[in-house]
Amino acid sequence: MEQEENHWKKCSSCKQWIDFESDYWTCNVSTCNRKRTGMVFCTVTCWETHLPLMNHREAWAEDQRAPSRAKFLAQEKNEKETAPTRRIVRPEASAQSASSSSAQGATETTPLNQDVAKEILIVASRLKSYILARSGMNTSEKVMAGLSDIVRKACDEAIETARRDERKTVLDRDIPKPS
Ligand SMILES: [Zn+2]
Ligand SMILES: [Zn+2]
Repeated sequence: MEQEENHWKKCSSCKQWIDFESDYWTCNVSTCNRKRTGMVFCTVTCWETHLPLMNHREAWAEDQRAPSRAKFLAQEKNEKETAPTRRIVRPEASAQSASSSSAQGATETTPLNQDVAKEILIVASRLKSYILARSGMNTSEKVMAGLSDIVRKACDEAIETARRDERKTVLDRDIPKPS
């Protein structure tokens, strides 16, 4: 990969270079910050672009500062030495191309990757206090995973409804009513 003097990483949305020691944004959601995903955004607007793809429930952009060139190179060198057999898998490549195409109006649903399929979409503290208030019962952590699957299913149905209406925004009325 060709890298010019001042360029650190490309924005995950618009592919513009983020320079060393300049401000950039990351997503607060852990799956967007894993080593192999490592999403970085040049602006909050670019960060917003990835939201519909990742199905985040609660997300915010975090202000960051790119490392200096010297620091970055030292870090890379260090990683190569400690992990010589590291295989680079890039699931974000598909997310990125989907991201740019969605900006141009494509309407295909991004296939669920492992990270998105397992992400917890439930605010655990609020759910626990709801169950506690309703019943006086405690809540197992695993409840969040099961409920997240239900939320994902409801979202997928809502996406389909919005698509049938040829909208680019999922509305509250698209969410299937609880039976
Ligand atoms: Zn950007
Ligand atoms: Zn994210």
